[in-house]
Amino acid sequence: MEENCIFCKIIKKEIPSKVVYEDDDVLAFYDIAPVAPGHILFIPKEHFKDVNEVNKPLIWGRILEAVQKVVKDLGIDDYRLVVNKGEQACQTVFHLHIHLLWGRSFTWPPG
Ligand code: 5GP
Ligand code: ZN
Repeated sequence: MEENCIFCKIIKKEIPSKVVYEDDDVLAFYDIAPVAPGHILFIPKEHFKDVNEVNKPLIWGRILEAVQKVVKDLGIDDYRLVVNKGEQACQTVFHLHIHLLWGRSFTWPPG
């Protein structure tokens, strides 16, 4: 846990969030400022600041397993997964997270 990390505070329930899924390793909750009709964030409970910091490769499987469960439970058909790494890629919270976006058409290539 990182002292000043907003997502660590969400994990500790010090900041409220609308939790969709939780297990020992992963938490999923609705994004506070959705950019699509559906917008959920998946985070590892262990603090890694970004993709490059992950030193436990199994965590990727745990997160993607949670994504599979949530899209199945919510009946989500098409969706996009996004991971922003670094400021140039618009990462604003430096606790690794995967965005699950759905409910509208998306463009390709992304902006
Ligand atoms: P990033 O830009 O780092 O890829 O994504 C960070 C995301 O975290 C943004 O979509 C932002 O809306 C979301 N976010 C920031 N603070 C909070 C918060 O306190 N609660 C929730 N639920 N989402 C947050
Ligand atoms: Zn954190």
